[in-house]
Formats: sequence, C-alpha cells, structure tokens
Amino acid sequence: MIDLMTLGNLKDNEGLIVTGLRRKPRQGRKGAESLGFTLVELLVVIGIIALLISILLPAFNKARAAANRTACMSNIKQLGTGVLMYTQDHGGLFPTCSYSADGIAYMEYPDDWIHWQQDRQLSNSAIAKYVSGSSAKNANGEAGASERFKQLLRCPSDQFNGRKARPGAGQGPYLYSYNMNDSTARNEIPYNTRFRTKINQWRATSKKILLTESDEKLVWQPVWGWVAPLTHRHGTAISRGNAFLSAGQTMGVNVNSFFFDSHVEGVNDDFACNQFHGQPSAE
Ligand SMILES: [Zn+2]
Repeated sequence: MIDLMTLGNLKDNEGLIVTGLRRKPRQGRKGAESLGFTLVELLVVIGIIALLISILLPAFNKARAAANRTACMSNIKQLGTGVLMYTQDHGGLFPTCSYSADGIAYMEYPDDWIHWQQDRQLSNSAIAKYVSGSSAKNANGEAGASERFKQLLRCPSDQFNGRKARPGAGQGPYLYSYNMNDSTARNEIPYNTRFRTKINQWRATSKKILLTESDEKLVWQPVWGWVAPLTHRHGTAISRGNAFLSAGQTMGVNVNSFFFDSHVEGVNDDFACNQFHGQPSAE
C-alpha cells in the first residue's frame, strides 16, 4: 500500500502531488506549472492494473491447471512404463501393489511397486530401476531415490498437508499421488503365492486402468480398487451414479490414468468405478 504521508505536497489547484514520481514539469491548468502525477491519476492507474489482474488471473490459473495436468500425465506415463518393463523381467508378473502391512492380511513385499512406508527406502521400489534417473544420487551426492523419482511420484496439483496414515499400521501417510490397480498383484500374506497376475492374463488392455490418481483424502496407500473414488484435484463434475457415488454427487474428472496398453487418458469416476477394471479376463 502507498503511505499517504509520502504522497507529497498540496499544490494550488492540482491536489496531492506524488513527489516520488516526479516528471518533467508540464503546463497545468490555468497556465500554472505542475509537478508529478495527481492522486486521481494515480488511482486511475491502480484501478486499471487491478482490473487487468482480475481479468487475467482466472486465465492464468486455468493455464497453470492445464500445465499441471500435462506434467501429471507425463509422470504417470513414465511410472506405468516402468511397471510394464518390470513385467518383462519377471516372467510377466506384475510388481505387487504395496498395501499397508497390517500383520494380518498384508505384508511388505520386496516386489512392491513403491516402497513408500516410512521404514523403507524409496530407491528400493520394484519399478525404480525401470524409471529413468530414479536411482541417481540426490543433490547432496547421497545414494537413494533421486529427487527426480520423488517428483515423478507426485502430481503437481497434489497437496500433502494433513495426509492421513492408515490407523494402526504405523507406517506413516502415503505421501505420493498414484495408485496401482490392486487386481494385478496383492502383497497378501503368505508371500508370493496368491493374487499375482501376469500381463498376458489381461484382456481388453486399452479399456482397463493400471495406474490412476485416487482420492487423497480417502486413500492412504498406493493401491486402487475399482470401488475407490478418484481425486478431485484436476476438476469435478456431477456423477450419473456408479458403484461408489449416487447420481448427483460430485466426482473427479480429468484424472490421469495409465492403461494396460500403455496409453494415458483423463477419466472420471463414472468410467473408473466399474468392476470391469478388476477382472483380468473380462472383454
Ligand atoms: Zn495429477
């Protein structure tokens, strides 16, 4: 704000003169010389700037949201490609989806696609070595997951403040943005014997979601099941009704999703919330 005390002197008929903005003397009204801008002129300029900002800001925000969506799309494409490359090296088996280890149904698998828990090293994630630059040293020259890998795992529109941890699991909140279809391979107890599928078991690969962005307020692990709601961070619309939402409820749209055939597409809950995505052989 401009401090009125600094606005200078009262001059004749010209009103307040801004001494800090002096310009060449000009012929004022009634032939008197005037120095600087009048307060009215200054207010008009400020008003015009404010108007321009109010016109441009929504366009600017829209452009930034679109840029974030594009960056997120690139992230999920590289992560999904890493998952598919993993299957090529492991007889077609998918990496496991990394549910929170609860000591009852799930445990930590070395094959978890992301080692996100606070007691694990992100650099040991099963897909890390398939994601370009992910195993590079960080800016301080320390070994471990590179900043680049972390960046790829985080949607630029995502907020991590107040993220909740799974009650009782003691592994901290999930501080990344993407979630893998839990029908590919679950890290269930006992190790490695059940619930792991191979890529050649999956049909209709261009229609089924492999990785997506779940609702960060409701999902506390890197897993997506077909009834899990999607994020609202890339926009919302009204649902026609699906297995999770009633018609008329708010759903997420433009949710970046990597499909089994490796294309990426923005989807909404009405598309994703369908048991079809959890059935490998469904056509
Ligand atoms: Zn995103």
